Amino acid sequence: MGAVAQAKRSLPVTIRQVEVIPVRIPFNSSFTIATSHSPTRESVDVLIVRVHSSEGVVGVGETQAWRRQGSSEVLENLAHLVTSLFEPALVGRSPFDVASIMSDLNAIAYNSLYAQAAVGDALYDLMGKLLDKPVHELIGGRSRDRIPVGFVASIMSSRDAMIDQIQAAYEKGYRHIRVKIGLDAEHDLENIRHLREHFGNKIVLRADANGGMSYETALPLLRKLEKYALEYVEQPVPGWDLEGMADLARNTGVVLSADESLTTDHSLIEIIRRRAAAMIQTKTGKNGGIHYTRQLWTIAHAGGIGIFPGNHPGTSIHTLSVAHLCAAWPHPLITGDFQQFSVEEITQDVVKYPVKVKDGYIEVPMAPGLGLELDEDRLRHLRIDN
Ligand SMILES: [Mg+2]
Repeated sequence: MGAVAQAKRSLPVTIRQVEVIPVRIPFNSSFTIATSHSPTRESVDVLIVRVHSSEGVVGVGETQAWRRQGSSEVLENLAHLVTSLFEPALVGRSPFDVASIMSDLNAIAYNSLYAQAAVGDALYDLMGKLLDKPVHELIGGRSRDRIPVGFVASIMSSRDAMIDQIQAAYEKGYRHIRVKIGLDAEHDLENIRHLREHFGNKIVLRADANGGMSYETALPLLRKLEKYALEYVEQPVPGWDLEGMADLARNTGVVLSADESLTTDHSLIEIIRRRAAAMIQTKTGKNGGIHYTRQLWTIAHAGGIGIFPGNHPGTSIHTLSVAHLCAAWPHPLITGDFQQFSVEEITQDVVKYPVKVKDGYIEVPMAPGLGLELDEDRLRHLRIDN
């Protein structure tokens, strides 16, 4: 550790202020998922949180208001929760007391995981910057050199456009392709048949229904999909229907993943107990940031459940959070697509050096904290509160 970092560490660093910056970030092209309200979306609402310390060092975290099944977040509510309830509980405390702080935030606003995610990840960024260490060194150290990532394709009305988009992703080096399904079972089946015919076994193919199907629709579709050798199908039925998930898992040859069904550690224990899925998708916004997501991974591993590192649409900030989680995780991971939106879909990032994918991999971030520098000009341009 350098002299500067040593000096910083010996000081009683405290949290001075918690700042919220609501931004709206347009996509390069619209994105469609199986959700009954506003399935086609042109932008994502993101809340950036800055935790200012007594040393002048600032930690940055992110969460999203991506309303869909299982999430009712609204940007103004997230910002209000952080400033009116969380900030008074944070000011004056050490950012290194992250476990105690996270426990208190959950007591203040029960299961407010989206808001807690931004604050908790900002604390990890701040701790790393104060210690001159990348976040993965604070949560177990480095377990891998680079992180493989995949690509997720929106529901598209034109099959040719879908094939063209995925072919372009393939040429960039992506080999794990997740397609959104769940609005029309016949359309989904035809799309997947065409993808297999076009790519053969050159890609690992997955599908995600976002809980958009009934059990009665999902069962025959999954049986027809068996011959296309999908790696898994994510959340065919609604998040609440764990019995339906378990029945589909028992009655088809398709591996199931839970996403909308997975919120807290309690929900994961229920998934494991009922054998409702063989794997889970975590997201830092949905699941409460680095602090709680790592707990979910630990429980999942103990329960024999595969882990897919994911994210809602967002910026490089939450992409970096997941990259550090992956870097520090010593056990196998399923190839996730947590970087997709910050790398491929958003028109502008809020950091000066956005995360990059090369040949289907992200390098483990090595700069202190999450390893980001906010772009103040872009933030001013994108913020929607002034
Ligand atoms: Mg999903």
